[in-house]
Amino acid sequence: MSVTELAPADVWRNRIYSGGWKTGGAGTIAVTEKATGIEIGSVGAASAADVSAAAAIATEAQRAWAATPGPQRGDVLREVARLLQEHREEIARQIVRETGSIRPKGYLEVKLAIREILEGAALASQSTGVITTSDVRERHSVARRVPMGVVGVITPWNSPLILAARAIAPALATGNAVLLKPDPQTPVSGGILYACLLEIAGLPEGLFHVLPGGAETGDALVRDPQVNMISFTGSTRVGQAIGSVAGGLLKRANLELGGKNPYIVLDDVDVEAAASAGAWGSFLHQGQVCMAAGRHLVQESIADAYIESLVRRTSALTVGDPFKGDFHLGPIINERQAENVDRIVADSVSKGAKILAGGSRDGLFFKPTVMVDVVPGMPVFDEEIFGPVAAVTVFKDDDEAVSLANQNRYGLVAAVASSNLRRAQRIADRLHAGIVHINDQTILHEVFGPMGGVGLSGNGHNYSTLTNADQFTEWQWVTTRDDLPAYPF
Ligand code: NAD
Repeated sequence: MSVTELAPADVWRNRIYSGGWKTGGAGTIAVTEKATGIEIGSVGAASAADVSAAAAIATEAQRAWAATPGPQRGDVLREVARLLQEHREEIARQIVRETGSIRPKGYLEVKLAIREILEGAALASQSTGVITTSDVRERHSVARRVPMGVVGVITPWNSPLILAARAIAPALATGNAVLLKPDPQTPVSGGILYACLLEIAGLPEGLFHVLPGGAETGDALVRDPQVNMISFTGSTRVGQAIGSVAGGLLKRANLELGGKNPYIVLDDVDVEAAASAGAWGSFLHQGQVCMAAGRHLVQESIADAYIESLVRRTSALTVGDPFKGDFHLGPIINERQAENVDRIVADSVSKGAKILAGGSRDGLFFKPTVMVDVVPGMPVFDEEIFGPVAAVTVFKDDDEAVSLANQNRYGLVAAVASSNLRRAQRIADRLHAGIVHINDQTILHEVFGPMGGVGLSGNGHNYSTLTNADQFTEWQWVTTRDDLPAYPF
């Protein structure tokens, strides 16, 4: 099955992309449609030897790329954005089939990926340094940003197109080579597609590699001495493992990890609007979003009305194969993940939580679920679920809302809904989170806002137009004099 005429299946079938299309040393990976399980393609799997060979090619190619005028690097990426726009329909359909996301999410992902790429391209035209002052008149002193070299990008399956775009575009724009390891569940929309697009857009050979594979391939990428930096998006467990290996190797690792994001609803809010936002925050993409509203913290006096509205809205949602119809929710990514949602729901019920909507599944199709009487210590309060579960906890006053919100070691996003902006801001000021939204739910993505978490959600390296130039480069101090100075010996 071809993604588009730009990415015909006979080009990439059973192949990795590394100095051209080739057979991977670790066999092949079946690409499946998540709603049905049917095979829709097959890509190559990269071995550790493939990673090492790719890194050697990339190291060589990167020198010439770094010396290429910035605007020309940007032009290649602008052409990728144009191609994505031209072929957005087919690409969105591939995302729907490969990730199980509903159609609007597929289209949104293409749109956001285009924006990431265009803004990444713009970095290539920015100034790269400053003339610093010096204590010595004869010394001309410059501080400039230089590319990291070879950047290893490791991405998850939930939003594969956009999470790859947000790293590969700024990395290439600032003069780096990229080794991309997409998740084995989404190797086409998370990787193969970019190989096709960048090749057509005219990226010089050897600069970009797609190395599908699982933990072993990712581990080889992190450890390879020719890879200078790792940009990782994924779970906290894997992020911690990568962070510790990269730390030992003194290698920069940007870690964007999980979340258990509080959505605080104050008693002065429009309850219907707040419940609608809360439902979106918990059920978009079946809750499989790092920024999902993991905990609805609702003030006591409006709790009954909020829960009634949330349950009513939840019960009206439809679940089914998103490639075949306009459903609100598609399938959970795989059986193991669905079983984890089962466990979290059942364990929480055994500890006193109640299910007011959903709570069961038909295969991978989990009904959107509302749970109430949720308190800290229950898995549904403490753990990232990555499933369509809205967990409601009731609080009395603003101090308790803050205390509950911060009673979690994640710190990705927090949101506060209130008609009193000063009150909402005072609460927001006390929240432990890399991102805070007032009068919105938790899932917002813009390349302009620094995206990154604190605590178990990441190590504070944000992706955004504000931060990307620094993230993918490092300082170099360069001094120049007309002549060698005289020294005492
Ligand atoms: P995961 O950590 O299991 O996998 C992510 C990637 O890491 C995959 O490509 C996987 O193959 C690779 N990997 C696994 N073990 C590895 C190892 N030992 N060394 C190197 N690479 C390894 O995550 P997932 O289940 O695919 O994705 C869901 C998680 O991602 C959730 O926790 C979610 O919150 C998080 N996420 C975070 C953000 C963010 O921006 N903060 C965005 C999306 C998803």
